Amino acid sequence: MGANVRQDAIEGIVSTRYALNRVDFRKTHLKDQFAIQVFNEHQQRQRLPKPVFKALHKTIKLGQPLDPAIADAVANAMKDWAIENGATHYTHQFQPMTGLTAEKHDSFLNPSSNGILAEFSGKELIKGEPDASSFPSGGLRATFEARGYTAWDPSSPAYLMDHPNGSTLVIPTAFLSWTGEALDKKTPLLRSMEALSAQALRIIRLFGNNEAQKVFTTMGPEQEYFLIDKHFYYARPDLLHAGRTLFGAKPPKGQELEDQYFGAIPERVLAYMAEVETELTRLGVPVKTRHNEVAPSQYEIAPLFENSNLATDHQNLTMEVLKRTADKYGLACLLHEKPFAGINGSGKHNNWSMSTDVGENLLDPGQTPHENAQFLVFCCAVIRAISRYGDVLRMAIASAANDHRLGANEAPPAIISIFLGDQLNDIIEQIEQGGAKSTKHGGLFETGLSILPKLPRDAGDRNRTSPFAFTGNKFEFRAVGSSANIAGANTVLNAIVAESLDFIASDLENAVKGGKALNAAIQDLLPKIIKEHKKIIFNGDNYSEEWHREAEKRGLPNLKNTVDCLPVVVKPQTIELLTRYKVYSEKELQSRYVILSENYTKTINIEGQLTAHIARNLILPAAIRYQGEVAQSATALKSAGIDNPAQMELLKTLVGASAELQKSLASLEKVLAHHAEGDAFSHAKQMRDSVLPAMIEVRKAGDKLESLLADDLWPLPTYREMLFSK
Ligand code: ADP
Ligand code: MG
Repeated sequence: MGANVRQDAIEGIVSTRYALNRVDFRKTHLKDQFAIQVFNEHQQRQRLPKPVFKALHKTIKLGQPLDPAIADAVANAMKDWAIENGATHYTHQFQPMTGLTAEKHDSFLNPSSNGILAEFSGKELIKGEPDASSFPSGGLRATFEARGYTAWDPSSPAYLMDHPNGSTLVIPTAFLSWTGEALDKKTPLLRSMEALSAQALRIIRLFGNNEAQKVFTTMGPEQEYFLIDKHFYYARPDLLHAGRTLFGAKPPKGQELEDQYFGAIPERVLAYMAEVETELTRLGVPVKTRHNEVAPSQYEIAPLFENSNLATDHQNLTMEVLKRTADKYGLACLLHEKPFAGINGSGKHNNWSMSTDVGENLLDPGQTPHENAQFLVFCCAVIRAISRYGDVLRMAIASAANDHRLGANEAPPAIISIFLGDQLNDIIEQIEQGGAKSTKHGGLFETGLSILPKLPRDAGDRNRTSPFAFTGNKFEFRAVGSSANIAGANTVLNAIVAESLDFIASDLENAVKGGKALNAAIQDLLPKIIKEHKKIIFNGDNYSEEWHREAEKRGLPNLKNTVDCLPVVVKPQTIELLTRYKVYSEKELQSRYVILSENYTKTINIEGQLTAHIARNLILPAAIRYQGEVAQSATALKSAGIDNPAQMELLKTLVGASAELQKSLASLEKVLAHHAEGDAFSHAKQMRDSVLPAMIEVRKAGDKLESLLADDLWPLPTYREMLFSK
């Protein structure tokens, strides 16, 4: 046993050995594992009567309603498959407004006159009725009418989640109130995809595409995360309960040597990654990339892109598997946006595009002028959308945790702008002047029918500081937080682009109806759009002070934190937009406003309480003990007739620092005890304006004591230990 919990943790790390060969690719090939836990097309085809399979497939591919008559057959096949693979229970999994996933398990067993039978009906597959009263509804539902229901989403396949004793059949669902309002994140996402599809189809029809039946948004999310040893994790109340450290002095070595990014991956971490990837592969998540990230002990995992609905479900699954696999390797996976102050936090790069059901990427510049024109129309729609509704997009990524990251010169600032890259930017500028005739890098554009150019596929250059960057054939939204459910950001993105596509389609349709050639109509419209909205384009360094000043001059909003963003949820333009495309009802938006405000308040309140607890019950006692030791030794020296001014100085410094801690702690406790009058938003505001600053003061005093106290008395695992013990 060490002298304290921290030394015990170090002892545990040194002495524990983990089984690092839980998966062995010499014996199992990943490609043979893909989607074996999923009731996918292959399983459906094998197990369903042909007409049932056909009907189900149509539902899945085109989002058409499922014929209830076939539901029993689908449910039965699903159940047989699940039970053969060790399942005892099924669950309707949904994504409540907490941002996590939720599930309640029901057994397949049903009593009948012939004893107990394993059953699963179409009705049970299609609809569930969990008690919704304990999920946030923001006033959408009073507790006395607690019923909510879950509705099967056939476009996201059911899968088996293994546990040590067997397996559970997981059915992805939407979560609605009894009166039909969305209580979850999936429903609005699906609605936004519908909205975008309808408008995008109008555009591609103008270009003569009568083949595609649907346009999907596609998404590939890159997930950053930290791994620290579990022994440390459990010795830090702040990590355990708030997901981030609320204290911690700067370590002697941080990320300044830049030796971590793409560096060699430690063995234990690599073994962990191998198991995560195997699990995810079996669950049908197309994981692709892994590497070390910039901060010490920070890593990244990225899948291949999929349609946004599936990608969102798979992203939630990825976070879950990352977290639960860590335990087996004695690790804790931190998904928080800013677990450690002073070193980079974690984000989730959200790569986004639009694609037809026959697989044409609408943001791919293509090879011919014709494709170029269509690409430029879609591209201008995105530019216009971000310019008009940048604040709504900013709101969609706001959270107490992400506030620590945005604008901290490690992630994009809170100002939303678009990076196009030199070439595309040059073309956009030429179109604004009345037509593009040459590329920046020499050579002539193919002009042909129109004066719209032939575009090179790869824009080439990169800009890591931009929140929203064109990267060759997709946009990369980089401001999303690492712990967020990506549904929120993508719902807004789809909705605002749908609005611009609607605007453009109407204009072009009218012009064509009036006898104008499509290309002429495009050449009239695009320069206008660019003139009006080019203020959103910025290709320089987004971290610089100049950009902040320039953005202000351009009138771009700079919503610095969550509380600044909250009013955007219910501002008239937001409501008008999101209700027009039936993505949210006004009532649903009002409820989100309340839920997001309450989430913020609860998060900061928990952090405030934890800060006070750690300061009072861990740091202060250690400080007083050390003070006592130093005082005792000083008295002993004095009585031995030895003069030691340095030791007296130390004692004074210690007493001063402890007093500072006590004083700031008293202020924090005072603001925590004070409850703001008024609605959910005023509470959130009080948290930002009173509690957060008081927490920062306590932390400063605590971190100072960390640098002063005897190492054996310090009660919390330090940054140095947590970030560098691998
Ligand atoms: P990085 O941005 O780190 O260089 P990549 O260029 O490899 O990484 O791509 C990052 C992510 O973008 C991957 O998940 C990839 O599947 C995804 N992606 C590629 N094309 C598209 C697309 N058309 N729509 C959405 N995501 C895409
Ligand atoms: Mg990227």
